[in-house]
Parts: sequence; structure tokens; C-alpha cells
Amino acid sequence: MEMHRDDLEMTLRRALERGGQRYTEQRGAVYRFLIGTDVHPTADDVFLAVRHEIPGISLATVYKSLETLVGCALAAKLTYGDGSARYDGRTDPHHHARCLSCGKVTDISGRLPMKELEKLRDGANDFEVVGYRLEMLGYCASCRAQ
Ligand code: ZN
Ligand code: MN
Repeated sequence: MEMHRDDLEMTLRRALERGGQRYTEQRGAVYRFLIGTDVHPTADDVFLAVRHEIPGISLATVYKSLETLVGCALAAKLTYGDGSARYDGRTDPHHHARCLSCGKVTDISGRLPMKELEKLRDGANDFEVVGYRLEMLGYCASCRAQ
């Protein structure tokens, strides 16, 4: 979905204000990059991408901007056991596949029916399931080709 830059900025302004935050050029640039990519970038990746557009922006500012967007439900944060994190501008429910070799994270389509998930709630798991997160692990096409 291609959104006009002004519409995108208005969406961002409104969502930030709802979250008690204000619009800044830095947050705007970070949000525009995030919404326009499906690579699930790290904070470093975002920094490298926006520093040309916003000269003088620091990695710390990029990181804080990303956290603000997550706090306002404008982005999702994917965290991993080694403490690394990736960010996702797509906030609708969807699942991911992660390459164990290069670390690339991609969106996957499809969802498991809730009925299947309810089956996991046996006597040993006294838990009401309302949703789930799924990360498929494996090897991406370019890593498999090597
Ligand atoms: Zn890979
Ligand atoms: Mn995603």
C-alpha cells in the first residue's frame, strides 16, 4: 500500500499525539523508512538508511524514535534471545520466518486456526489462548544456494 507522504505524516502525527508524543522530523524519517520496507531492520540498519535524509541524526536518536513508534503502536519490535532486536512497520497480525544462517526475517502468509491452538490447551496447560506469535526457523533461499 503506497501512502502519500502528507497522509503518512498526518497518520503519524495523530498516532503520536494519541500516545502523548509529538511529531519530529527524525521520527518522521524513521517511520517513513520503516513503513516502506519489509526487511525488518535493526536500529543500525535504520540509522544507515535515514542519516542521509537527516544529517546529524545519531544512532541513539534513531533508537529512541523506534521505541517511541513501538510505544504508540506504530511499529512492532521483534526481540531475540541474544538481546538483538528488529523493527516492523507492519502492525497487523502476521508471522515471520527467520533464517538461522544470515538472520534475515521475512513475513509469511497464513494463520493457524484458533481451533488448532485450543488443542494445545490440555490438562497440563491451564491457559486461555487468545492469540499467538509464530516464528518459523530455517534457511533462506540465498543461504541454501551457498
Ligand atoms: Zn539466510
Ligand atoms: Mn513482519
